[in-house]
Amino acid sequence: MNDLEAAAGLIREAKDIAISCHQGPDGDALGSALGFGLAARSAGKEVTVSFSEPFVVPDNLRFLPLDLLVEPDKFPSEPDLMVVFDTGDQSRLGSLVSNSKAAANLVVIDHHVTNEGFGDVNVIDADAGASALIAHRLLDLLGWPLTKEIATCLHVGLVTDTGRFQYSNTTPELLASAAAMIEAGAEPAVVGQKIYESVPFGYLSVVAAVTGRAVLEPEHDFIWSVMVEEDLAGAGIEASAVPGMIDYIRIAREAETACLVKDLGGPVEVSMRSRNYVDVGAIATRAGGGGHARAAGFTYAGSAEEAIALVRDALADG
Ligand code: AMP
Ligand code: MN
Ligand code: MN
Repeated sequence: MNDLEAAAGLIREAKDIAISCHQGPDGDALGSALGFGLAARSAGKEVTVSFSEPFVVPDNLRFLPLDLLVEPDKFPSEPDLMVVFDTGDQSRLGSLVSNSKAAANLVVIDHHVTNEGFGDVNVIDADAGASALIAHRLLDLLGWPLTKEIATCLHVGLVTDTGRFQYSNTTPELLASAAAMIEAGAEPAVVGQKIYESVPFGYLSVVAAVTGRAVLEPEHDFIWSVMVEEDLAGAGIEASAVPGMIDYIRIAREAETACLVKDLGGPVEVSMRSRNYVDVGAIATRAGGGGHARAAGFTYAGSAEEAIALVRDALADG
């Protein structure tokens, strides 16, 4: 029996399913969790979906069907079956780590190459461009149909994790999955506009501040910048309204590796991207984070400058 079948077996038998994803959820994390959750509810399961504090749905994902979503303190403390999407490491469940440890059965559905498999059943496929693709395979195996709402959620995962079907993880299977989503009612133009073209006006001044501060280090084939609290305060917007800032830094052709450090009061959050060959996933893993070869991140207990120095040193070491 392969892992997907084992996962399907546990899910089929369950009456209640508690579903989660990594903290600070992105489109793939929340889209997979909600899309799978809606399908499970249609199949007659009692479903709750949640994620760790800080319990804030990013601005550009608020158009998703959020009815199943509950605050983390309302999430079952000892679920019979907990299914976790897009979470490369158990610690990324944040305040729901204890719930996952207390679960009678834990199923991990993920595509992070760094995922060592912290579930009782692990469906980890590093070649899948998005967790949403694995969620779709699982729905197919279960024979659970797509609805417009489910398809919209999963489509969001497919679109966002492939950079709108642009990155090297855009495979024929993934495009076929997106085709199935559109067939089932997902509207690419609606999803595209909600996710990428619905920023508050203040976002533009944050882009200006962050790109204006960018530093190119040709000797390391490296570009980096920092986002600070004042950028957001000056623009009158919340951190949840500024995803995607790394995408403005990474487009400079002079650099193989791009890094954005968000210094917003708590521990700094580091995002890294590479074009062709630098394994930023390995750098992130050594720094206590994780991710993929071309997109990865970590949380750092020191200053933004120290975090940049850590990445620079890793690049210099090769
Ligand atoms: P981001 O830069 O936040 O878009 O994240 C890029 C990739 O790195 C995603 O696959 C994340 O799951 C992973 N990642 C980002 N931050 C962390 C972190 N603090 N710990 C582990 N993985 C992370
Ligand atoms: Mn994710
Ligand atoms: Mn993902």
